[in-house]
Amino acid sequence: MSFTNPTPMQFEPEHPSTDGTIPLCVPSINGNEWRYIKECLDTNWVSSAGGFVDRFELAIANYLGAKHAVATSNGTAALHLALLASNIQPDEEVIVPALTFVAPANAVRYIGAWPVFIDVDPDYWQLDPTKVKDFVRNECRWQRDALVNKQSGRRVRGILPVHLLGHPVDLDPIMEIARDFDLTVIEDATESLGATYKGQPLGVIGDIACFSFNGNKIITTGGGGMVVTNNEDWARKVKYLSTQAKDDPIEYVHNEIGYNYRMTNIQAAMGCAQLEQLEQKITAKRFIGEFYHDQLKSVGGIELPREAEWAKSIYWLYTILIDHDNYNMDSRTLMELLLEDKIQSRPLWHTIHDLPSYRRCQSYHVEVASRLHRNGLSLPSSVDLAKNTSDLERVINVIRNQGPNPHGGVNR
Ligand SMILES: *Cc1c(COP(=O)(O)O)cnc(C)c1O
Repeated sequence: MSFTNPTPMQFEPEHPSTDGTIPLCVPSINGNEWRYIKECLDTNWVSSAGGFVDRFELAIANYLGAKHAVATSNGTAALHLALLASNIQPDEEVIVPALTFVAPANAVRYIGAWPVFIDVDPDYWQLDPTKVKDFVRNECRWQRDALVNKQSGRRVRGILPVHLLGHPVDLDPIMEIARDFDLTVIEDATESLGATYKGQPLGVIGDIACFSFNGNKIITTGGGGMVVTNNEDWARKVKYLSTQAKDDPIEYVHNEIGYNYRMTNIQAAMGCAQLEQLEQKITAKRFIGEFYHDQLKSVGGIELPREAEWAKSIYWLYTILIDHDNYNMDSRTLMELLLEDKIQSRPLWHTIHDLPSYRRCQSYHVEVASRLHRNGLSLPSSVDLAKNTSDLERVINVIRNQGPNPHGGVNR
């Protein structure tokens, strides 16, 4: 069988890469992907068993310094399994940031538990530890060794910090609250593989953590995820539940209700190749972040993302805030103008607490998240944009030309 290289590379249909469009965030495939995937095809190991799955799990565990890693079909499945393993029960509650991609809130509902939505902080746009503390102090009571939400009467069991956009949550105060009130911390690190908090990689500070290898994440397997934990029992449980809770594979004995959430060998082969390139990808993302920062810092009416002194961000999606009153337009108008120049950008996620499925859930002083949703715009952030700066300059020129005229007056 002959083996030919593809030309040109095919991305998701909404990301045409051949007509001059600058997409928001697409994969960069520059290593051993073809070689490893070909090995799967040549050896007939294409499905949910095979050497690459074990190899990818080990490589991720080693990279993070974690005891166990279990590969899953995607990041949402990883969250679902992490919540099941941590034994949070139906009708218990989990603290979730009001600003995030919807997957972690959905995963809390999959297990029959309820999210309580808490605001993000104004400096780094992450789950706000001060507001978490206020919520626990003011809205909950400690009753028979359990934290109980006074309004709902339900037990609060967990905190699910989401490391948004590549930057860590301030985890020390979160961990302290968790220890004081016996809460499980499930880190959603799906957007932030490779970022560090006080020198430690994200994913090993909480009790259990989740990663995603979706096409827009820093490394991709097409679709895929990983659960990481130092807890051996939980890791075993995640693996068991991800493979249909199979107790006797010959006699088809299943003692629990399981899921088909396992990663395939082909996906893992791609993951192994992608992980080999992670350091270069992080360097590229940080270069893109610094380039945007230097070129946009003098533009009025725009707030740029900050990196905390205790953080190393991977700048997954470089996101700016457009202040309508001081810039010439709002974030959505700028998005339209960028698109006229074939540049994709995206607003930040809709705040979850006012989505139809979550309106009945409790939220606590959500203010910053709403402003971020209104003003946020994520700019093109693909790793390959670091190869030469001309595409980044195209994006920056539109933003500068539409912005307030530094010599007084406005441009349009
Ligand atoms: C990408 C992402 C996920 C899960 O992703 P999958 O597409 O299911 O792999 C979960 N949470 C957040 C915050 C994400 O950005």
